[in-house]
Amino acid sequence: MKIDFYEIPEEGLSLSVDDAHWFPQDLERLGKAESSLRLKRLGQRVVVTGRFSATAVFECDRCLGKFHLPLDSDFSINLELPTEGISEMEEKDHYCHDSEMDMDILENGEINITDILQQQLYLAVPMKKLCSAECRGMCSKCGANLNHEQCRCQPDTSSPFSVLAKLKG
Ligand SMILES: [Zn+2]
Ligand SMILES: [Zn+2]
Repeated sequence: MKIDFYEIPEEGLSLSVDDAHWFPQDLERLGKAESSLRLKRLGQRVVVTGRFSATAVFECDRCLGKFHLPLDSDFSINLELPTEGISEMEEKDHYCHDSEMDMDILENGEINITDILQQQLYLAVPMKKLCSAECRGMCSKCGANLNHEQCRCQPDTSSPFSVLAKLKG
C-alpha cells in the first residue's frame, strides 16, 4: 500500500487500515491487525503519525512454549523528498548538518504504508520473548516444560536426605 506524496491534500490525509496485509509474513498472527495513520505535508516533508494493534504468536525463549503477545504502539516519523541534482558528497555534507537525524528519504515520492507499519511492528517486538515474567522454563535434563508438568528426572540419589528416605521406607 503506497501513497503518492503529491496526492496528500493540504489538510492532511487520515487512513484506517483494517486488513492485515501489512503484517510481516515471517511472524505468526492471531486474529486481526488494525492500524490508523495520519499523513501531513510540511513543505518537502511528510509527517506520519499513527498507531497499530495486533497480536503475534511467539515461542517463549525460556520454555519454548507458544504464547500470544499483543503488540500495540503509537508512532510518529518524518519522511523527506529526495533533494535532486546534488552529488552524493554534497548530500552527505547536507545531512551532517541536518539536526533531524531520524529523517527518512521518500523513495520515488511515495509513502510506503506497508513498510512503515512493518518497521514499527518489528520495533515493538521485545528482544527477549517470555510467555510470562514468572516462566519457570524447561528442565535442562528431560526437557519438561516446568510451567505445565512435573520434571521427570529422578531426584539426585547422592544426597544424604534421599538415602535417609530410602532407609525409612
Ligand atoms: Zn515460557
Ligand atoms: Zn527434568
